[in-house]
Amino acid sequence: MKNRIEDSHGGIKSNGQNAAETRARELIDLLEARRKLSLEEYAQLVSLYSPEVAAYAAEKAVRARKRVYGNAVFVRGLIEIGNYCKNDCLYCGIRRSNDQCSRYRLSPNQILDCCREGFSLGLRTFVLQGGEDGHFTDEMLCALIRDIKAECPGCAVTLSLGERGGQSFRQLRKAGADRYLLRHETADEAHYRRLHPPEMSFAHRMACLTELKSLGYQTGCGFMVGSPGQTQDTLAQDLKFIEEFQPEMCGIGPFVPHHATPFRNERAGSVEMTCYLLSIVRLISPGVLLPSTTALGTIAPHGREMGILAGANVVMPNLSPASVRKKYELYDNKRSTGEESAQCLAALAAQMQSIGYETVSHRGDVRIEPFSDGEDVLTQRKEEAHGNIQSQIPEGGRVHS
Ligand code: SAM
Repeated sequence: MKNRIEDSHGGIKSNGQNAAETRARELIDLLEARRKLSLEEYAQLVSLYSPEVAAYAAEKAVRARKRVYGNAVFVRGLIEIGNYCKNDCLYCGIRRSNDQCSRYRLSPNQILDCCREGFSLGLRTFVLQGGEDGHFTDEMLCALIRDIKAECPGCAVTLSLGERGGQSFRQLRKAGADRYLLRHETADEAHYRRLHPPEMSFAHRMACLTELKSLGYQTGCGFMVGSPGQTQDTLAQDLKFIEEFQPEMCGIGPFVPHHATPFRNERAGSVEMTCYLLSIVRLISPGVLLPSTTALGTIAPHGREMGILAGANVVMPNLSPASVRKKYELYDNKRSTGEESAQCLAALAAQMQSIGYETVSHRGDVRIEPFSDGEDVLTQRKEEAHGNIQSQIPEGGRVHS
């Protein structure tokens, strides 16, 4: 019986399971100390998922996140500015060729109104997201960013408007945009081609990310979990890319099928694997801003809390006008009411409080923790164990309800 341990359900594990779990724990310890693994080790870590291994990773991820951000969960107001899109991504409900999609665009004044409402609710980051749409010219967006900054002093503006030219990114940054979210979608070029039509370019998406970082944006990449064709090797490449790119933000959520896309009959990604990957990414980069996504909250009743408990530290309730929320349907049954709505911040705060976290209203900029080598990390651990490390919750209050 020496090589057998009881699993969390009281069952008996085989020697094989035991060895797998031991190896996974070894890899997690290594990742915690070094913040990097080889491609093969990442693939192995993904393949060794089990509820017990995920719990071990989550415990370490939560500790790493607490070291940098304490119990703070940053709240961002998400404004979906339009669902016209020139792209035809095979997974996405607002893809160009979905002729069942009822299209809309918000005017700059409508967007500004959403920000004003969010500001009065206590929010200090506004995320403007939409399809790739030439209607939103640089001139229009630059004026809008300046207006938001003037009307909502001290706030951060995050853009998530897809691939644009270097000149465009430069102008938007000059106008005051602070952050840009552009999920890389997959770091494996062959997998990218499985998810996108031939006219879309993996190299261009990656080049955009490099450009955004060089312009000083807090830059976000990310990927869907369980997208068709994804394997442990493609996920290993995603993790390696994140390790090397060092994004300030990282959006990881389950793939969820949409009935009017070519992937309508594909299976959704799992909550468990998404949470496991959130923990792994937190260990790669303890300071990264990591949202617990709407997609996670959509596929499981407590998905959002599970994401936070796995190491995420950002939530993005919806601030879009109620009349358009249903139209920004990236996948079936996307949630936009209840705690997903910025109008229900008190409920969101209560939900976070119930799991030991505090929603905070300030900008919530990234805090990249400098890497210390294994020895320093171990010293730090010892100090933590003795309660000597102060939690570094940034100044700022709760979100008003
Ligand atoms: N157009 C911008 C862009 O390309 O980054 C932002 C909007 S795009 C709809 C935002 C993200 O939604 C994508 O990066 C993708 O990962 C995610 N998404 C799209 N369809 C999805 C689906 N079926 N399930 C889960 N996430 C999806």
